[in-house]
Amino acid sequence: MPILNEKIAERITRGMKVAVLTGAGISSESGIPTFRGDEGLWKTYRPEELANPQAFAAHPHRVWEWYQYRRGIVRQAEPNSGHLALKDLEDLLEDFSLITQNVDSLHIRAGSRNILELHGNIEKNYCSRCRKRYDKLFDQKIIECPECSCGGYIRPDIVWFGEMLPAGVFERAMQAAESADLFLSIGTSAVVYPAAMIPFRAMEKGAAVIEVNPQVTELSSYCELSLRGGSGEILPQLVSEITTYLN
Ligand code: NAD
Ligand code: ZN
Repeated sequence: MPILNEKIAERITRGMKVAVLTGAGISSESGIPTFRGDEGLWKTYRPEELANPQAFAAHPHRVWEWYQYRRGIVRQAEPNSGHLALKDLEDLLEDFSLITQNVDSLHIRAGSRNILELHGNIEKNYCSRCRKRYDKLFDQKIIECPECSCGGYIRPDIVWFGEMLPAGVFERAMQAAESADLFLSIGTSAVVYPAAMIPFRAMEKGAAVIEVNPQVTELSSYCELSLRGGSGEILPQLVSEITTYLN
């Protein structure tokens, strides 16, 4: 059974513009927990209690230690067949943008190139006081939050709840969405703003939007196709089908 319907199949050319938005779901099959449910808990804390600037100001060591724990998970993880299928899709097309809410570098490690990291990267850091960058990998054994030469605490370069997205990145993501012929929304609950706006903008501007998610989301009833299942299984099928239309 083909996944794609005729309306989408008609749009498929090497020159079509494709934009993709990924969320934590695509990395869950690599063993990186999403923030939903009990699997996101660390000690007794929910991610929302740790991933915000007030928590870091009040408890820098606790928040740092949680990131060190998450870095351990990310470093052990490998890109899965979903990440690899997106790399293959990029190789086939002239115009491809990968917008990710993930901070785990798995798209980079899978070989994707045109990546917009909306929420930062867990391996990068900067000083919370003077903003000096610390992009070296911190040894996992360092569980006390390190200090900058200015005396400020070094924090992960992550966009926390309540913070602005890095300058320019969101705008570029919106541009990619606005010009897309085909837009894929993968493994995201479509509730974390402003990222959640991106697929809707693509739709308004005429893109065919396909969602890949085992669960119903805010986007499901609006998109052209809502594919229920894990991205590790569905994306390779989807990319193989796109390839047959290109040949
Ligand atoms: P989210 O809001 O993007 O929700 C995760 C979504 O993935 C859910 O809708 C779920 O149904 C879906 N999903 C679960 N398994 C899937 C699979 N196998 N294939 C496809 N979809 C699947 O993410 P969140 O966990 O609520 O996180 C909120 C914020 O924290 C986002 O910025 C998120 O990207 C970030 N975060 C990033 C990572 C990471 O870098 N890997 C991990 C956790 C959270
Ligand atoms: Zn400093």
